[in-house]
Amino acid sequence: LNRRLAEFGTTIFAEMSALAVRTGSINLGQGFPDTDGPEEIREAAVRALRAGHGNQYPPGPGIPELRTAIADHQQRRYGLAYDPDSEVLVTAGATEAIAAALLALVEPGDEVIALEPYYDSYAACIAMAGGTRVPVTLHPDADSGTYRLDLDELRAAVTSRTRLILLNTPHNPTGTVLTREELAAIAALACERDLLVVTDEVYEHLVFEGTHLPVAGFPGMRERTVTIGSAGKTFSFTGWKVGWVTAAPELVAAVRSAKQFLTYVSAGPFQYAVAEALRLPDSYFDGLRADLRAKRDLLSAGLTEAGFEVYRPAGTYFVTTDIRPLGGETDGFAFCRALPERCGVVAIPNAVFYDHQEAGRSKVRFAFCKREDVLREAVARLKGL
Ligand code: PMP
Ligand code: GLN
Repeated sequence: LNRRLAEFGTTIFAEMSALAVRTGSINLGQGFPDTDGPEEIREAAVRALRAGHGNQYPPGPGIPELRTAIADHQQRRYGLAYDPDSEVLVTAGATEAIAAALLALVEPGDEVIALEPYYDSYAACIAMAGGTRVPVTLHPDADSGTYRLDLDELRAAVTSRTRLILLNTPHNPTGTVLTREELAAIAALACERDLLVVTDEVYEHLVFEGTHLPVAGFPGMRERTVTIGSAGKTFSFTGWKVGWVTAAPELVAAVRSAKQFLTYVSAGPFQYAVAEALRLPDSYFDGLRADLRAKRDLLSAGLTEAGFEVYRPAGTYFVTTDIRPLGGETDGFAFCRALPERCGVVAIPNAVFYDHQEAGRSKVRFAFCKREDVLREAVARLKGL
């Protein structure tokens, strides 16, 4: 293994899901729903497969039906107009979109600012691109019980070597949803310092308080923003690995240059199904949000009763906690490695998402995209700790 990748080891999600299987534990670690997405969308995939649609290599940029549906979705939800031919690219999940964007846009030695805690593939992809990651830490705020971005710290992180800001809103693992004011300030900074923004918005539909605002919609941002979305979270088909990029033509062309040599194409029949999914009525998206809001409330209340300090997520399907009030183990790694034996539950230690280890040491993330009875059972087990 080369030096660029050596520090990353095995992704925590694989490690923890394997631990869940091995110990027969309830898996609140890796973020995937335990109920599949809409039956009609599964049927659409079966129909495409049977009709022979997408069983051979689909077009490199993605099938036209899906690119049009993605463009229509950005227009319908956010009033953002993208040309399906030159400004939309279908990828193998958001994961490939992140990798391809960083490989295409970062020169060796460039600095990439990422909000910390950061989704684990960001660090690995910045490293593969030869870039240097510059984390800007979100801090727990005692008044609101949420994690917040300090805009002065963000501004101070920009240097003459900064190439881009890698954003993530709604934010995994903290559940923070960046506000209009925060996004306006980030946009102003990007324009002033002539930076690109790559923004991971895979949880765009999972917002329980406030609203999701795409950073591409702020003044001056349309031309300098690469927006990343995914069907995995929005339609509960994480195994299909259908993601996408929307951006100005030169940026999409750059991302495509990298993408063509990573997977070339993927998910043929699923692309047809996701094109239908994106056209589901608003009631689908409202229903998903309402369902997950109830689950957030259930798990948050249960974790509080069990003795955890809970940071209230405004979005995503994760809740970050602090284990120190439990009065025992204060190291998240040790806590999560012992948890299956102690009570049959798996969670993720947030320290994996940090350079500043101390900031994440006592923090542990639980996923609530699970059936209500599963969440209730997990809470009962955690109360027995
Ligand atoms: N970004 C974030 C913030 C995520 O949490 C995830 C996990 N699903 C991804 C990207 C990857 O998305 P996909 O499964 O579409 O590759
Ligand atoms: N995004 C999911 C999470 O944060 C995991 C995806 C993966 O396993 N790579 O849990």
